[in-house]
Amino acid sequence: MELMNNNRWESYIRRVTPYVPGEQPKDESIIKLNTNENPYPPAPGVERVLRNIDVDRLRLYPDPTIGLLVDELASFYELDKDQVFVGVGSDDVLANAFLTFFNSDKPIIFPDITYSFYPVYCDLYRIPYEIQPLDKEFRIVKEDYYKDNGGVVIANPNAPTSVYEEISIIEDIVSHNPNSVVIVDEAYIDFAGESALSLVSKYENLLVVQTFSKSRSMAGMRIGYAMGSKKLIKALNDVKYSINSYTLNQASILAGVEGVRDWEYYNEKIQNILDVRNESEKEFRRLGFSFPKSGANFLFVTHASIPAKDLYEALKENKIYVRYFDLPRIDNYLRVTIGKKEEMDKLFDFLSKYIESK
Ligand code: PMP
Repeated sequence: MELMNNNRWESYIRRVTPYVPGEQPKDESIIKLNTNENPYPPAPGVERVLRNIDVDRLRLYPDPTIGLLVDELASFYELDKDQVFVGVGSDDVLANAFLTFFNSDKPIIFPDITYSFYPVYCDLYRIPYEIQPLDKEFRIVKEDYYKDNGGVVIANPNAPTSVYEEISIIEDIVSHNPNSVVIVDEAYIDFAGESALSLVSKYENLLVVQTFSKSRSMAGMRIGYAMGSKKLIKALNDVKYSINSYTLNQASILAGVEGVRDWEYYNEKIQNILDVRNESEKEFRRLGFSFPKSGANFLFVTHASIPAKDLYEALKENKIYVRYFDLPRIDNYLRVTIGKKEEMDKLFDFLSKYIESK
């Protein structure tokens, strides 16, 4: 039978320009400084529970409430369990939050340079948005967030800039927005300073989103969470249960619990990363790079004379992956994850020789 070409289904497809994640190369000899993963393994308890997983239990669906992990997070952060929502990475939590809270006709607002997933969610869910330019130092201009809006999203520390804003700036923005939900995406907060979590008891419209992917070394398990008032968490759960009740698998729930418990272990690893970050800052400066002060496990660097794109390509050819964004205002920057000292040494060895040869 001849295929008819006049079907309308194609025009009914929801089209979206997707987010492009950083590369996950198979070659293990590659030095991977491109997706802000933690260079150290998860806490020992994570390995223990994964080795002892009851495979027969996998016949059953996991707990749709993710109760064990919700309880563990609630007690760690001294919240009520009705104030915690867990999802499949903070990307999933953010996607649910955009769908749940940004349902007005007014544009939501976020910085021009920020996590590039935000405009993708807006596009997917048909949420209007207006970007607010960061200043020349990549800092938030807080007055830009005083205007009428349908919601506010702030990544703090911001990505890919690495800039951390003090909690007073965040509180100022939240207090000027009593009519909108304000989402603070704190994927990197454990490398920075004070979390906006302390404001959650004061502002019912503030949602703080965090992840197990960075400071807790578990990007591969895909666990993220949101904390806020009971009203916000109930609304998020209502949307979640309208899409997929069983979001976290059994292994992730058990591993996640161990990931919350052993903060002493993680704190030590965070300190290691901050030490290597300090050393790396010196090396980058010595080689002619500049960068904003980082509050994250990465640096956002630009070189005085060599274009970022050339550096990115030369590094890649030499099996060192960093992240480059061909986007307005940041197309001469590289986002470099802080790896282990040995990995950073190799990066700086290569950069020294390359820059000398120019
Ligand atoms: N927010 C920001 C600012 C990020 O950089 C990332 C990591 N790409 C995420 C959220 C998502 O992290 P995950 O889904 O692994 O929790």
